[in-house]
Amino acid sequence: MAMTGVEIFKLLPKTNCKKCGFPTCLAFAMKLAQRQADISACPDVSEEAKATLGEASAPPIRGMKLGVGEKATKMGEENVLFRHEKRFVNPCVFALNVPDSAGDDIVLTRAREVAESEIDRVGQKLRVEAISIEFASGDAARYAAAVKLAADTAPDAGLVLNCTDASAAKAAVQAVAARKPLLYGATAENMEAMAALAKENGLILAVRGQGLDEVTDLTAKAKAAGVNDLVMDGGAKTAREIIEQNTQVRRSAIKKGDKAVGFPIMTNCIREDSMLEATVAAVAVAKYSSIILISQAERWKNLALFTLRQNLYTDPQVPMQVPQKVYEIADPTPDSPLMITTNFSLTYFIVAGEVENSKVPARLAVMDCEGLSVLTAWAAGKFTANKIAQYITEGEGFDKVSKKELIIPGQVAILSGALEDKLPGWKITVGPREANGIPAFLKGRAA
Ligand code: SF4
Repeated sequence: MAMTGVEIFKLLPKTNCKKCGFPTCLAFAMKLAQRQADISACPDVSEEAKATLGEASAPPIRGMKLGVGEKATKMGEENVLFRHEKRFVNPCVFALNVPDSAGDDIVLTRAREVAESEIDRVGQKLRVEAISIEFASGDAARYAAAVKLAADTAPDAGLVLNCTDASAAKAAVQAVAARKPLLYGATAENMEAMAALAKENGLILAVRGQGLDEVTDLTAKAKAAGVNDLVMDGGAKTAREIIEQNTQVRRSAIKKGDKAVGFPIMTNCIREDSMLEATVAAVAVAKYSSIILISQAERWKNLALFTLRQNLYTDPQVPMQVPQKVYEIADPTPDSPLMITTNFSLTYFIVAGEVENSKVPARLAVMDCEGLSVLTAWAAGKFTANKIAQYITEGEGFDKVSKKELIIPGQVAILSGALEDKLPGWKITVGPREANGIPAFLKGRAA
């Protein structure tokens, strides 16, 4: 069970030295209890207390990484049931499944679809993270070859070995051991061999059962066999089963601290009908699945699922932002127009899109206003004449600008006088109130 703030407080040095960034040890303890701080922030806590707290403050859903290298994907580490309590931590992984019996051409095509699935949406890179190769041919050598082909074709993808035959899984693991594939295939029948294979190679083991009781029982057996990185698939098929089973697991792990179910959930959403598959996968995204198996990754489906996932896994308390910098659009020259806006992602993408539409080369200075839109940032005192002037004079990227004219959003036309005072030698021009007026505005100036 999670420790309370008072229980944690008893283990702290109680000197109120503030080195952790909190005014008192008790305040820090309360934040630790809410999992909003890390024990490492206190430099004076004893090793013994650290060990006790480390265990108690570990997330109720075990964290693990699928794959290797920079593009390895984190799973688990969830702390809450609802995202209004605190943000969900690690977005679910989509794994595109292909049977080895489909032939090399299809395996190659599916692996390429995974490798080329990445899109950029409001500044974030979104993709299908994994390829799952299903053992359907009955031929272990054929399976290992298909796994190797998929792994080589999608070098950044996580690998899922969808296989319950221990000897075929072993041959496939040997072919791609360095990629740390996830073994999706421990059942009541093969548990001993699969657990040994996962343990020997340091792999994540996905345990399959029919219903929560069986999968929990099997997970305990895998743990007893020495495998710690486990994933649970309780065999939920319908949307209702997925919601009921996944909610029960998440609730037990988080509210009751039940370690027996404190693992990421895997859900097989494969359906013959792609629209139905997308719908079932959407349910799994919304309700706690950490790995979602699909059989088709069409662009329309990817876009829908990526968007849903992105919206659920962003922090509702933190607006999406783009970095502060001067963005160059269409290869501007030193005397191209210089516009300014705030760093709220949607503001940036709308304004930058309209500047691109104008076909007029320009610079767009994006100022860090903590992700607020123009009017909100102005009202909050973050997009003021003083702050804009400071950014223009001290910020990076303005050294390439020779024409001292700054175009400000029409919504903050009121700032123009004060800005001219704060930026001597600069001409302040008021741009359009709405972004859709930008093309005509820029073209009119260029004419
Ligand atoms: S750094 Fe440690 S001792 Fe100092 S106030 Fe924070 S918790 Fe207390």
